[in-house]
Formats: sequence, C-alpha cells, structure tokens
Amino acid sequence: MKRRSSSFNTARIEDIYEDPHSPDPSLFLHYGDMTDATNLIRLMQEVQPDEIYNLAAQSHVRVSFETPEYTANADATGTLRLLEAIRILGLEQKSRFFQASTSELYGDAPHCPQNEDTPFRPRSPYAVAKLYAYWITVNYREAYGIHASNAIAFNHESPLRGETFVTRKITRAAAAIALGKQEKLFLGNLNARRDWGHAREFVEAMWLMLQQDEPDDYVLATGRTTEVREFVRWAFEDAGIPIEFVGEGLDEKAIAKSDGRVLVEIDERYFRPTEVEALKGDASKARDAFGWAARTDARELAREMVAADLALLQTNFAA
Ligand code: GDP
Repeated sequence: MKRRSSSFNTARIEDIYEDPHSPDPSLFLHYGDMTDATNLIRLMQEVQPDEIYNLAAQSHVRVSFETPEYTANADATGTLRLLEAIRILGLEQKSRFFQASTSELYGDAPHCPQNEDTPFRPRSPYAVAKLYAYWITVNYREAYGIHASNAIAFNHESPLRGETFVTRKITRAAAAIALGKQEKLFLGNLNARRDWGHAREFVEAMWLMLQQDEPDDYVLATGRTTEVREFVRWAFEDAGIPIEFVGEGLDEKAIAKSDGRVLVEIDERYFRPTEVEALKGDASKARDAFGWAARTDARELAREMVAADLALLQTNFAA
C-alpha cells in the first residue's frame, strides 16, 4: 500500500518494483492511508489478503512530540482500522495479521535486557500510540481468534533507513563530509544506547512469525547495545576520517584526529522532552520458537551503511 505524495516516494522499493505493464506482474501497489477506514476496508475486500504486515506508522519518536494526534491516528487507530476491516469482511480465519510493535514500548524499562514479560512504560506519543496498537492486536487475537502477532522489534537499520533516524543521519553525514559535500553534523543525545540490528534479518522473522501454527508476541533484537557516540566514531572511521570526542554536555564535539576540524556538534533541537536512554533486547523466545537469531551487529551495520552512502553520494549528485 502506498500513500499519495506529490513527489516520488517509492525509491526504497525500487529493487522489487515491477512495471504494471510487464507481462506477468506480481507486485501491485494500492493507494491507501491508515487514517482512511473506508479505503482500508475496500482494499482488503479487493485483495482478500492471506497475510497482512502492518509496518505503517508515523514512526519518528521526536516528530511524534510535534504531531501527537496524527501519530495516534495513524499508529493506534490505524491498527484498529485494519483489524476491524478483517472482522467486518469476515476474514478472521483467512487473513493472518502482523503488527510491528516496538522496543519503544519499554521506555524506562525496570530491567535489562527486556523480554516479552518486561512491563511497558512508554515515553513518547509514538510509544503510547504503539502501546494501543500492541494491545488491540492481542485483544483481537483473544476475542475473535484472528492469527494476529506482535513483533516487539528493537531498532533495525539498513542503507534504506530513513535519513532522519540517527544511524542513517550519521552514516550519510560521514559519507558526505568525507566527499567534501557537507561540513558538519549536528546531533542530540550522544549517550543514548540502542540495540541495533539489520532490517533484512528482522523482516525474515516477521514472515516466520506468520508461518507459525499459533500466533504470539516476540521480541526481535540482537541482545547487544551500542552508544550513539560509538556509532558516530565507527561511521567516521569507515568513511576514512578517524575522530575523537572532546568536551562535555552541550559543548561536546567530535574533531578529526588528522587536522582538528570540528565535525560533530550538539544541537538541543534533537533532544526529546522525554528520552529512552537505553534499550537491549532478549530474543530467546523467537530463537526457541522458530530458530531465529540476529546475525549482523551494529559494527557491521555501520560499515555497510557508510559504504552504501558513499556509493550513493558519489553516483547521485542530487542525493
Ligand atoms: P528511536 O530509537 O526509534 O528513537 O530511533 P532514532 O534513530 O530516531 O534515535 C535513536 C537514539 O538516538 C535516540 O535516543 C535519540 O535521542 C538519539 N539521537 C541522538 N541524536 C539524534 C539525532 O540527531 N536524530 C535522531 N533521530 N536521534 C538522535
């Protein structure tokens, strides 16, 4: 499903995109919107899906503080709309449902690592909206017998990550600075720690979840956590500009080891009114149920993402 936009917004599916005029197309994109119930019902009636993967969301935590109502509408009520469409159309026994839940549900988690039994203490309008979506998915499973499952997915990244999420923002800037196309990178909280895995592996787990006989909720994570500051160090190293951090608090900076150029500074604008300081997941339930484990760690991710951004910026002058 794709949202209408006045500019192209399918770049991230270019690899699988098929021209609808090709002889035997197998990929069809439908205009839709999570805030439009009648549209969702009509689409589901037309498509009669075997499997539904709900990864649609206003998914940026910082932006959710600016657009909390829209975030609730798309992420919370939007999930309800899909589940209601299943019920209204009598697809409870046919359509399996996957909900992309999030480690942001844990917020200020009381223990580490977090697993399926860790209580949720959401810390942003995004996380609160996703909390509703999590529980409405559980409720429709229990109330109507729908094969509906939540992945409590920890951060998952790749070269396709949106440019305003921290990993991609960093790798893109490191590449651009290395190529002389950007001078400096401004970041928020460098102390935050995240459990970063590879999106490709997480998507395999999402598919596996819907192939299980029984629906259930699973943590997807690597079990390792990395500080934002460390990811910055790796990315600049991979771009060929080793850096070191100097100073503290708002005055902390990263400078190039070779010539002392200031390459990274702090901008308070990227701080969140309430922050999730650290996340680390325990995915042993998914491993025991269907043999899934994350393979790529954050160090490798940084390498892959910087290489991709260097290639992209070298070939695409508009990027
Ligand atoms: P999130 O974990 O879903 O919020 O994913 P993000 O990639 O947006 O943020 C991960 C962490 O990086 C959060 O703790 C942010 O506060 C922190 N961070 C530090 N600087 C930045 C920044 O400039 N942009 C973003 N998006 N996050 C930043």
